[in-house]
Amino acid sequence: MKNSLAVLIVEDSESDTQLMVRLLKKAGYEIFYRRVETAAQMSAALAEQTWDIVVSDYNLPQFNGRAALELLQESQMNTPFILVSGAIGEESAAAIMKAGAHDYLMKENLLRLSPAIKRELAQAEIRQERKQAEQKLRESEERYRTLVEQAVEGIFIVNAEGRYLAVNSALCKIMGYACNEILQLKMCDITWNSHPKTLHKMELQSGKTLYGEHKLIRKDGSLIDVEISARQLPGGNVQGIMRDISERKQAEEKIRKLSSAVTHSPAAIIITATDGRIEYVNPKFTAITGYSMEEALGKTPRILKSGQTPPEVYTDLWQTILAGREWRGELLNRKKNGELYWDLSSISAITDADGNITHFVAVNEDITQRKENESKIARLNIGLEQLAITDYLTNLHNRRYFMQRGAEEFKRAKRNRQALTLLMLDIDEFKKVNDTYGHEAGDMALQQVAATLKFSLREVDILGRMGGEEFAVLFPSTALPEGLSLAERVRENIAHTPFEVQNNPPITITVSIGISAITEEMMNIDDMLRSADAALYHAKHSGRNRVMKCQ
Ligand code: GH3
Ligand code: MG
Ligand code: MG
Repeated sequence: MKNSLAVLIVEDSESDTQLMVRLLKKAGYEIFYRRVETAAQMSAALAEQTWDIVVSDYNLPQFNGRAALELLQESQMNTPFILVSGAIGEESAAAIMKAGAHDYLMKENLLRLSPAIKRELAQAEIRQERKQAEQKLRESEERYRTLVEQAVEGIFIVNAEGRYLAVNSALCKIMGYACNEILQLKMCDITWNSHPKTLHKMELQSGKTLYGEHKLIRKDGSLIDVEISARQLPGGNVQGIMRDISERKQAEEKIRKLSSAVTHSPAAIIITATDGRIEYVNPKFTAITGYSMEEALGKTPRILKSGQTPPEVYTDLWQTILAGREWRGELLNRKKNGELYWDLSSISAITDADGNITHFVAVNEDITQRKENESKIARLNIGLEQLAITDYLTNLHNRRYFMQRGAEEFKRAKRNRQALTLLMLDIDEFKKVNDTYGHEAGDMALQQVAATLKFSLREVDILGRMGGEEFAVLFPSTALPEGLSLAERVRENIAHTPFEVQNNPPITITVSIGISAITEEMMNIDDMLRSADAALYHAKHSGRNRVMKCQ
């Protein structure tokens, strides 16, 4: 028990005051008291310090108990107020008790004072404690309310039927409703897929916290993905936390699409760590190389090396990708079964948000078939070109090619002021060969003449079959005298070569040759041809099997 007691005594009589003080001291209290008899004195005393108890007379010359009680109440103190008075009548006593006095004693019965004070002090202490507890509770509630309100997650309480009893603003924001609107709804009203099974009652009743992902309908009709964790509160309501996971869902969807694209890509895809160790290969990689995912993981793409790619290619590759650029190139690689194949490879670095390289990704297209086709086409093209400039019967160049080369040689000779000599050859009396041995034998003879011509010429000379049994030869950088002797050698070679005709003894064939050399006046190869033709005409008319130059 508290022994020291600060008593504020509202009393005009000093002797009554002393009487009370004595009684209280006798009861064991260590008394500190002040007697006041006006409102002003009481106000000053209340302002000065806290009092454990106020003992007040009812009627004072300048004051009264009722006003004293009001003053105390205004001070907001939790101090008990005991009225000590002569007879004041039951009505007044009841009124002042009703107004908030804690007890009422008759002056004649002051022996009750000490127990009354003791009781009231105890009561006051209880009141104070309750007040503090209530204050604490209010503060704690306020803190929780702030927490709930400021939470990013939606927080709700529903009853056993799923009706919303309480929601925080985050939940309203997630759902696009005003809070009072949500409180009119049940969970099933805003659920897209059948969910209140979420709150599988049995499981909730067992005290478990249930987690689930759900699609809910926002006020504007749009759907939103949320994750809800819920647990039952004592009393049967269910408390839940709702998190907006639409961004995560979208990211997951994007990753799902990307990963499907990678899985089904028609190109082989390899993802490696920065040290080159393979972390992922797609099914196409396995289809092309023969290495399964399990075999490839942890190895490096060196398993594909054929040793046929020059080392500079790899140096270039690494320098390019480490500089953050994409490397593209063709690599001759080797499959698990040893077979070589061509990869068109595109390799680049994957970087994190800070730009640090975390992985490398290689997208490889097997271009072996394409390469083969290309080389086939190239071969075909070369063949076609060759065909276009080759004479089918003799395998010599044809007129088209000869004229083209002739035009080039003519220009070059003109430009460089170099000599150039042209021969026109025509087989003598060839009709007779055909007539005597047949056209086929004539063809054979033509082929042999062509071969003999080719054999008689130098590497640099240009020979063509101009049509029928006529041929032409260009001697680059060759002046007329030398041209004449070369032409003579050709003529002699043919005249001395025995030619086979079917089932007959070899025959002799001769040629007449007209020769022309480039002159200042000549403008093009046709001018030279005309001149050689004229010379050939003369050779024929002069008896054949001879070389003649233009007159
Ligand atoms: P010359 O030139 O000495 O005046 O008498 P020629 O008999 O050779 O007469 P010309 O040059 O005018 O006739 C060419 C003949 O060559 C005509 C044709 O029967 C024959 N001839 C032309 N082209 C071919 C060919 O591709 N095959 C065969 N077998 N004969 C051909
Ligand atoms: Mg002819
Ligand atoms: Mg002829």
